[in-house]
Amino acid sequence: MKKISILGSTGSIGTQALEVAQMHPDRFRVVALTARQSRERLFEQVRQFRPEMAGFSEPIPTEEIPEDLRFCRWLMGPEALHAAAAEVEADQVLVSIVGIAGLRSVMDAIGAGRQVLLANKEALVTGGHLVMKAAEQAGRPILPVDSEHSAIFQCLQAAGPNRPVRLWLTASGGPFRTWKKEDMDRATREQALKHPNWSMGAKITVDSASMFNKALEIMEARWLFDMPPERIRVVIHPQSVLHSAVEFEDGAVLGQMGVPDMRVPIALSMAWPERIANGSRPLNPFGMNLTFEEGDPVKFPALRLAGECLRAGGAACTVLNGANEVAVAAFLENRIPFGGISRVVEAVLEKTAGLRADSLGDIFEADGLARARAWEMIGKGTNGWFCP
Ligand code: NDP
Ligand code: MG
Repeated sequence: MKKISILGSTGSIGTQALEVAQMHPDRFRVVALTARQSRERLFEQVRQFRPEMAGFSEPIPTEEIPEDLRFCRWLMGPEALHAAAAEVEADQVLVSIVGIAGLRSVMDAIGAGRQVLLANKEALVTGGHLVMKAAEQAGRPILPVDSEHSAIFQCLQAAGPNRPVRLWLTASGGPFRTWKKEDMDRATREQALKHPNWSMGAKITVDSASMFNKALEIMEARWLFDMPPERIRVVIHPQSVLHSAVEFEDGAVLGQMGVPDMRVPIALSMAWPERIANGSRPLNPFGMNLTFEEGDPVKFPALRLAGECLRAGGAACTVLNGANEVAVAAFLENRIPFGGISRVVEAVLEKTAGLRADSLGDIFEADGLARARAWEMIGKGTNGWFCP
């Protein structure tokens, strides 16, 4: 029986992890759950899974916790995240919160000797060097939940002593793959939120449409697999059947295929090294027509920016991530057009070069600065229309 703590249990990844836990009550006991502010959803989860601890990262008055849920220890604010990551006795901690808050939680969990199941991309994007060093010192490798990284992790099990020469990071291409750049620049919120294959939270769905999700994933892969960006190839694969692959010196390419269903990588991380049923459909190979294209860095500047930021080092990736989060939020509020997202990010990167990332403090400072600059630029747009 594995004890699991879930940070961000009310989100897309968190709820799917709970579905897997519910399918295997003999394997998993849920010991902690956190949300930011989704009250009814977290209350319902606590009622069902009866964890030892639960909490909201945005505090609510304790009187508002229903009587029947007071059996569990309720914590609020940063204390809730810290307790779920490091204090509650758990074998594994699934970090499925969104944003840079994940970095502290991951470091807390590693520091407490927990096995980290990592969905939160921002922790590696912003503090990959610190996270990987801490995980190595603790002797507990990070288990990736992101589908592409889970695929690469699975393929590497067959590598033996051989180092891959290249990683193939697949991408669906998002809803704008076949659109002209000019049309994409003016795309609406509703159009960006229609992902062709995956069902995910709003932020990551917009990131898939802009390919900033792939940029963040290149950064994740750089740290998880210690691979320089020039050896990470983005492969547009609209069917989302091949979830990523690994290429070796002898020309062999090993890939992992399956239906696009996040419960597969989530369940694998939870049960690792075992494979368990997770509610996903089996893959039917007949009639499948798999295609692969090169990504266009002119149409999707994010693909170019990822390599540039990794090569620049310091806090460049943190700045990209912070500026992108602000730009996506502004886009979702209809304050900037879709094409404005990459323009904001690039303008903030230009203005915010050369920052250090030697400590968590440096990283949070760079993040704050990037966000402030991004909001400042968005505020300068006329009629909410950003044109640098
Ligand atoms: P969601 O927005 O669906 O859920 C986020 C969860 O984190 C919710 O429980 C939310 O609580 C909580 N949360 C949000 N902001 C904060 C914060 N600042 N501090 C603490 N908790 C917070 O996101 P996803 O599940 O889609 O994604 C989670 C992470 O996993 C992201 O980093 C994403 O990039 C990554 N990921 C997601 C995939 C997917 O398929 N969804 C695939 C691969 C990676 P509340 O409900 O109260 O707002
Ligand atoms: Mg992914």
